[in-house]
Amino acid sequence: MSDQPSVVAAVQQRGFFGGGDPKEMAPRTFHVPTMANSTAFVTDEGIVLVDCGVVQVGPHIHKHVREYTSEPLNTVVYTHGHVDHCMGLAPWLEEGRPRVVAHENVPARFERYLKTVGLQEHINRIQFGFEDMRWPTDYVFPDTTYRDSLELEIGGERFVLTHGKGETDDATFVWAADRGVLASGDFWISCVPNCGNPQKVQRYPEEWVVAFDKMIPLGAEVLLPGHGPAITGASEVKQALTDARGYLISIIDQTLEALNDGLPHDEIVARVKAPAEFADRPYLQPVYDRPEFIVRNLIRLHGGWWDGYPADLMPATLTEQAKEIASLAGGVGKLVARAREISDAALACHLAQWAVLADPSNKDAQACYRDLFKNRAADETSLMGRGIFMHAVREAKKALGE
Ligand SMILES: [Zn+2]
Repeated sequence: MSDQPSVVAAVQQRGFFGGGDPKEMAPRTFHVPTMANSTAFVTDEGIVLVDCGVVQVGPHIHKHVREYTSEPLNTVVYTHGHVDHCMGLAPWLEEGRPRVVAHENVPARFERYLKTVGLQEHINRIQFGFEDMRWPTDYVFPDTTYRDSLELEIGGERFVLTHGKGETDDATFVWAADRGVLASGDFWISCVPNCGNPQKVQRYPEEWVVAFDKMIPLGAEVLLPGHGPAITGASEVKQALTDARGYLISIIDQTLEALNDGLPHDEIVARVKAPAEFADRPYLQPVYDRPEFIVRNLIRLHGGWWDGYPADLMPATLTEQAKEIASLAGGVGKLVARAREISDAALACHLAQWAVLADPSNKDAQACYRDLFKNRAADETSLMGRGIFMHAVREAKKALGE
């Protein structure tokens, strides 16, 4: 998607989760980058900890913060209820129970997770390739929640929590007003904003812009993000937030125009283009999510689930369609041969998928499916896209007994 393959390659090299080493980013402000980042603000009344990591890295974050300060933990803020941000409290709880603050939708998210454990494991198996993924259920619920904004005074300092919707409906960004430090949570993830994810619940690109409109005037000197590297310097922070705002607005405006033109969903996705003016920005590369997926989320938000094609309203199953297509083509072998022949990767993958659906026991079909999705994954910039393609490869390998 990007016109700047060297930029996207460099960002991929860094890795979506690569945020650097733990270090002091401002006086008494210690930042621990992990899979999801965590920040300890040390005050005269103890630590204000913004996010505490996934369960496996909780001890790592605790160890580094404890090497930096022996102050007690006063308050934990969850920037949202995703499990990579709020499951690492165990080593802290051994020291005592801190106040736990989050947006009022975080408990509802935990309740939803408890209803859908199998689904969450399935989704994350595909997205991250965690085959033996076990979804956590031992949430530490917040004891303090808020709706729009909440100002905490701790150790004589102001910490302003502001709610916005973006990646999630339960998000908070924290403004350490007296330090000029913005802990953004996942409103900043150092790549294309995660408001497209193909497997997860509704995301909110338009409200994300509203959150940027609130963050930009703060004039932060340091931005400590939910994922990826920190940004330092007021002009650098402002530039980055303003660019991402412009990126989302372009996709939103194009999508709304195509929706208002009454196009079917796939035509809308084909028409909307990621804005070229930001193609060279290292922090707007499609290494986790993709602009096409953001378009799909906007379609879902504003429209219904029907894709615009009448046969798809009450369709034959895809397996039934595939059997008919294979029969018309003259057999599964013809589909496989054509799939291996044509250069359009997306079309070739449809052919291979029809072949496997028409006859899952056909080894040539499974091998073709395996090979084509492996190639597709190798060419794919986004972790979410790669996750789905590599899941297909694993399924084909299982069918082949490999
Ligand atoms: Zn996150």
